Amino acid sequence: MSTQLMNTYARLPVTFEKGRGATLQDTDGKTYLDALSGIAVCSLGHSHPAISDAICLQSKTLMHTSNLYQIPKQTELASQLIKLSDMDRVFFCNSGAEANETALKIAKKYGHQQNIAQPTVVVMENSFHGRTMATLSATGNPKVHEGFTPLVDGFIRVPFNDVKAIQALSNNPNIVAILVEPIQGEGGVHIPETGYLAELRKICDTNNWLLMLDEIQTGMGRTGEWFAFQHESIVPDVLTLAKALGNGMPIGACLTKGKASEVLVPGNHGTTFGGNPLACAAGLAVINVLEANHYIPSIASKGDKLLKQFKEALVNQTGVLDIRGKGYMIGIQLDRPCGELVATALEQGLLINVTRGDTIRLLPTFVMSSEQTDELVNTLVDIIQNFLK
Ligand SMILES: *Cc1c(COP(=O)(O)O)cnc(C)c1O
Repeated sequence: MSTQLMNTYARLPVTFEKGRGATLQDTDGKTYLDALSGIAVCSLGHSHPAISDAICLQSKTLMHTSNLYQIPKQTELASQLIKLSDMDRVFFCNSGAEANETALKIAKKYGHQQNIAQPTVVVMENSFHGRTMATLSATGNPKVHEGFTPLVDGFIRVPFNDVKAIQALSNNPNIVAILVEPIQGEGGVHIPETGYLAELRKICDTNNWLLMLDEIQTGMGRTGEWFAFQHESIVPDVLTLAKALGNGMPIGACLTKGKASEVLVPGNHGTTFGGNPLACAAGLAVINVLEANHYIPSIASKGDKLLKQFKEALVNQTGVLDIRGKGYMIGIQLDRPCGELVATALEQGLLINVTRGDTIRLLPTFVMSSEQTDELVNTLVDIIQNFLK
């Protein structure tokens, strides 16, 4: 469509002008219900007054200095995240890929500290970790690799949700870490069996590997806990966050615990923008709003209800293979490619996503009213039924 922009996205023919809560408005004045939240970014909806105010105020006070100086807002946001996650330290950056790059650099150096010459990270089939060279190399999707070899090496890939496949690697002396999403998002909303992360925790403890969780999509309340690992009462060694951390203000974070906190020293890693006062003011406002409104506990039950509504409405529908989800992360898998449903829904004023070709992915905002979630169910069920008929 546009010749000025690099041809990296097949964009839909719609231009949004403004947003409020769970809805967006296009340049023709048509409103849309947002069940995607800019891919799990705007969890608190659009133009949230408390977040906008915090950004406004900070921009009039001080936007950026440098990590060469003290940044109180950054320390404050780090303290909040540490309190919520039980991690020890934070490195702030600007995106999910950068957070994962940080994690991968920690893993490599952690290996070299133990004189492992070829530090290797276990990653999963069907995973998604970003688009930079190291994170796309970690990603388990051949389409993402195509055209970009030689990849960064130092990865071993195993099937997701397969503890035995990882146990079988225990005698590989090069392995230093496991990098895994608690729920695979881009890969089609795949939820591992209960106990999977706890098993990985044990394997990492036994072998002295780092357990590195990519919670860029699942973090900040999306699954009904602040972080998805909290469903299994474990704590990782490394945790990466981004997406919803700033509700639209670009900010990422890599958190470490225990021995993983002792790896990086001055000169090893850095960022110009990461953790600047403006981004951190947004992050602090997001946490304040999530806490003050008790959104996260409610997302667990609201997510269950939404999932149940879809299951009931589509119970006898042939062509629906699976309906799965946790909190406000829901996948509806069909027996055929259904990418065109994104445009169908758009026409009907509903924003959804299709991932892996055949799975409708919903990542609604936490601020949807029950009328809006009913509207989401009714509209989408109708679309699915018409499509499969
Ligand atoms: C979105 C995402 C990323 C990449 O984040 P960017 O901000 O696009 O770099 C990495 N991992 C997971 C699980 C994601 O969902």
